[in-house]
Amino acid sequence: MNRKPIFAANWKMNKGPSETEDFAKSLLSKIQNRTFPCDIVIAPPFVSLAKAAEVLGNVPAVALAAQNCSQFDSGAYTGEISGMMLKEFFVHYVILGHSERRAIYGETDAVINAKLRKAREYNFKPIFCIGETLEEREGGKLEQVLRTQVSEGLAGLSERDLQDTVIAYEPVWAIGTGVTATSAQAQEAHAFVRSLVAEKFGTESAAKIRIQYGGSVKPSNAAELMACPDIDGALISGASLEPQSFLDIIQNGVPG
Ligand code: PEP
Repeated sequence: MNRKPIFAANWKMNKGPSETEDFAKSLLSKIQNRTFPCDIVIAPPFVSLAKAAEVLGNVPAVALAAQNCSQFDSGAYTGEISGMMLKEFFVHYVILGHSERRAIYGETDAVINAKLRKAREYNFKPIFCIGETLEEREGGKLEQVLRTQVSEGLAGLSERDLQDTVIAYEPVWAIGTGVTATSAQAQEAHAFVRSLVAEKFGTESAAKIRIQYGGSVKPSNAAELMACPDIDGALISGASLEPQSFLDIIQNGVPG
């Protein structure tokens, strides 16, 4: 199955509008008139989306993502941002279920599922993050954790929804730590996640869904990780904050 790799930059709470403008202009100067055999996505903080859209909104090679999206349409939800609002900023993807949202903000699988379904109502492509903690892995709970996250997170989605969903497998112990999963560990987890999708949606959907790896991806390890048959790109934070580093990951991951 030929799946188009997808490389997404999750900036987390980094880069306000002016730094976003600098990044976007620099990236644009490096990619102008080039085509890539992959999707490239940038997820700035909400307040920087307008600036990113201003510089990159009409650049076909790059799509914008939001880092979160409310499960509600509007109303008394202080501090939240709705899908309707995001529509105004050329946003095509929404990152949901990131381990920081789960751990720091207490987002449960049920909340993440509600957000996923809402994101699909607005026609966004969810980047649905899953992954185990070190304690869970060492306690032999890897498969159980992934099974629950996939089953509850994707509950109620149609096969059509699934086609527009990307899964990001991000072992929590590899996020921002400099410790990357070995390519064997990553491949094993990705193959298992694909088998879970097959159980739920059938083998055809499972063969089509893109599963990104996330966790300390950098230019030096991108090629080895991306060579794994079930790894379809990367979700990158730390190494995506500099345009050249982000581009080097893409180039090393999908040469040509
Ligand atoms: C992330 O937070 O999604 C992530 C993968 O971070 P980093 O690339 O910095 O490990």
